[in-house]
Amino acid sequence: MQETEFISSAIQSSNVLVPNPSQFDSVVWLLNAHGFSIKSAWDNIREVKLDVTWWKVVWFKAHIPRWAIIQWLAVHGRLATKDRLQNWGLVPNTLCVLCSASLESHLHLFFMCPYSSYIVGQLLRICGYRRGLISLNQEIDWASRHMTGNGLQQSLYKMVLAASLYHIWLERNKRVFQGSQRDALSLVSVVKADIRSCLSLWRKVKRSARMVLSLVCLGK
Ligand SMILES: [Zn+2]
Repeated sequence: MQETEFISSAIQSSNVLVPNPSQFDSVVWLLNAHGFSIKSAWDNIREVKLDVTWWKVVWFKAHIPRWAIIQWLAVHGRLATKDRLQNWGLVPNTLCVLCSASLESHLHLFFMCPYSSYIVGQLLRICGYRRGLISLNQEIDWASRHMTGNGLQQSLYKMVLAASLYHIWLERNKRVFQGSQRDALSLVSVVKADIRSCLSLWRKVKRSARMVLSLVCLGK
């Protein structure tokens, strides 16, 4: 067999696509029958995991991004709490700056700490819920089962929870980095004011409903 015949025969017996000089080249996206899409590319390179049950508690329609980011990090245990920093050898003092009584960890800060427990407890009363000492994971687990909708009550609850987390973390950072501090009662007022401010921008809620929520529920 001639060398050229051998090569031709080898190519034909394999699955190699042989360029056809009588046709134009074209780009074919094999991952999607309908052609290229960002979604099919992303689905191909990412590791697909099951949806977490709590995502609607954090990323609900009326979420405030700066609150949601902190809440998302807290749920994942990714905030730079002192117990984590200690593992990296970065902090000599691991006491919680809010109560000065326990190791600062996600579990303690949200909401086993007496300071943060008081704040979230006071704020959840706005939504009609009275809580004893409850951890963030327990609160999120409860919310995942009972606060799945986007109605007024559910949205207000989710705003209150996210705002509580955000301001507790902010207060913690102010104490650590600026040396300033506010008592729990003052911080409750600050969180209420922030929620009122966000409610005023909430276009999907009728003006009358906003007034009821901000004046009656949140108080002045
Ligand atoms: Zn504490």
